[in-house]
Amino acid sequence: MRTIVTGAAGFIGSHLCEHLLASGDEVVGIDAMTDYYDPIRKERNLELLVGRPGFRFQRGDLLALPAGGLAGADVVYHLAGQPGVRASWGAQFADYVDRNVRATQHLLETARGEPGLRKLVYASSSSVYGDAETYPTTESLRPRPVSPYGVTKLAAEHLCELYRTCFAVPTVSLRLFSVYGPRQRPDMAFARLVPAALAGTPFPLHGDGEQSRDFTYVRDVVTAMRQAALSSWCGVANIGGGEQVTMNQVIDIVGALAEPVLIDRLPDQHGDVRHTAADTALARAAFGYRPVTRVREGLAAMVRAERELLALSRVA
Ligand code: NAD
Repeated sequence: MRTIVTGAAGFIGSHLCEHLLASGDEVVGIDAMTDYYDPIRKERNLELLVGRPGFRFQRGDLLALPAGGLAGADVVYHLAGQPGVRASWGAQFADYVDRNVRATQHLLETARGEPGLRKLVYASSSSVYGDAETYPTTESLRPRPVSPYGVTKLAAEHLCELYRTCFAVPTVSLRLFSVYGPRQRPDMAFARLVPAALAGTPFPLHGDGEQSRDFTYVRDVVTAMRQAALSSWCGVANIGGGEQVTMNQVIDIVGALAEPVLIDRLPDQHGDVRHTAADTALARAAFGYRPVTRVREGLAAMVRAERELLALSRVA
């Protein structure tokens, strides 16, 4: 299978490339190496991929992708984007429009000229739901994002549906629910919590800690993406971890795995939702999705990875 992964140097993209290579696929990774967080982390992610048989990296912005830039690909996995709920207010919104909406529209225009393309899998987000009216949330619920980020992810998802219905581009949009695991983006909660617990430094907790999430382990996410790509199904589906856990519960688990966590209490942030919970019946029926990683197990993997990093940095 010849694949293209946009956002290949990012958190989920680098895990997806590893999974595809291990499955025997050829992978062209595309990434602009944006500076939303320290690009050194992205360079490190790439070090795990560059040199492996079947992998090729193209540094570049999707907005500059030329006509024919997807030629020969069986599947395009589209993960490039501007993430982050809290940073999406104010002047930075322009980046969200460029990297989530305009880049996706340009990719879809390019895909339109490729009749051999079997699937385009888009990494959408649970943020499209906002504060959902019912839990677990099904795909038929009216999306009402509560952050500018969610608005741009929903716009891009609508574009995927438009290009599918008008021009037969075979798109699947997967609404990912709070993805976590080793190499998680540094602006995300677990990526700050685990090092804080190991270092004995305070963890900044926004709100009362009773906000809950359907946390999804990154290996389950990348497995779902490939399953969706190989299926004949197109449309929009939730991808959740199958367990709703509060931040207070996560803090207790990490405290037990590492050291008790010191908390720095901060106010709620605009754009944060109170709860998320995915109904994943559609993904199960459409392409056999079943999450297998419990939150305790996934957090243990993050603690192990962080300890390994610390040990390496002591040697260096
Ligand atoms: P990430 O920031 O680690 O990865 C995104 C990558 O895209 C970055 O390496 C960045 O350099 C690249 N990029 C951005 N704009 C680009 C452009 N115009 N051209 C080429 N490359 C570009 O983020 P992540 O957490 O790995 O998320 C990947 C995707 O999944 C994003 O689209 C995000 O919205 C979506 N998503 C993530 C989560 C989550 O919990 N991490 C949840 C729902 C959806």
